[in-house]
Amino acid sequence: TRRKLVAGNWKMHGSLAQLAELDGIAAAARANRRVDVAICPPFTLIGAAAMRGDLAIGAQDCHQNAKGAHTGCVSAEMLKEAGASLAIVGHSERRTDQRESNEDVCAKARAAIGAGLIAIVCVGETEAERDAGRAVAVVEAQLQGSIPAGAKAAELVVAYEPVWAIGTGRTPTTGDVAAMHAAIRAKLGALLGAEADAVRILYGGSVKPSNAAELMTVANVDGALVGGASLTAADFVPIIEAAA
Ligand code: 13P
Repeated sequence: TRRKLVAGNWKMHGSLAQLAELDGIAAAARANRRVDVAICPPFTLIGAAAMRGDLAIGAQDCHQNAKGAHTGCVSAEMLKEAGASLAIVGHSERRTDQRESNEDVCAKARAAIGAGLIAIVCVGETEAERDAGRAVAVVEAQLQGSIPAGAKAAELVVAYEPVWAIGTGRTPTTGDVAAMHAAIRAKLGALLGAEADAVRILYGGSVKPSNAAELMTVANVDGALVGGASLTAADFVPIIEAAA
């Protein structure tokens, strides 16, 4: 059986003062040992967040190279040294804003894993793609291009985040989530063989205290990747509890 993972993506939010929220989140993690909990703050807060307590801390991106002339970039090795244990790669906002391709995302995932981080590889269709009946095909192609060959379940997590559900308050039906997560599981099987059974597949996109419990009961939903509702302990703790 797969341990659930509830990960918070702070995106470009947070401050040293806001790290106080981590205390309540870490307490909830200790009280719900059956769930893995992580927070991914901006790069500038990773060191302080990791130092603050016994909560897993992740990054929101990493460079594909260990070092080099890449002004403004941060490598997986640097993140590991700063105290991170995970890295999100291929978030839809980066696929759009920074024009990251599947190839880029695959290289970043490989770099994260190589540095000893768990890579959370994000996939998801746009609203136009879903309306055109292409959601599963789009996500399968993203997986095909973004998942490093030979990845092990201990070092890889997939997050399904429909682009139209991110920050909109809209979520797919539980039936649509179940169908997509089953398709992702099958595609991972084709890519990774038996290892696929143990890979965690998170749902992300407008997860809130009010809908988390229902989403966490869907087959092949092994946790959540949470944006806005991860910024405060008041919102994030009930989501951790819903996954427990
Ligand atoms: P929201 O939870 O704010 O919709 O964001 C989801 C997300 O993009 C997490 O990576």
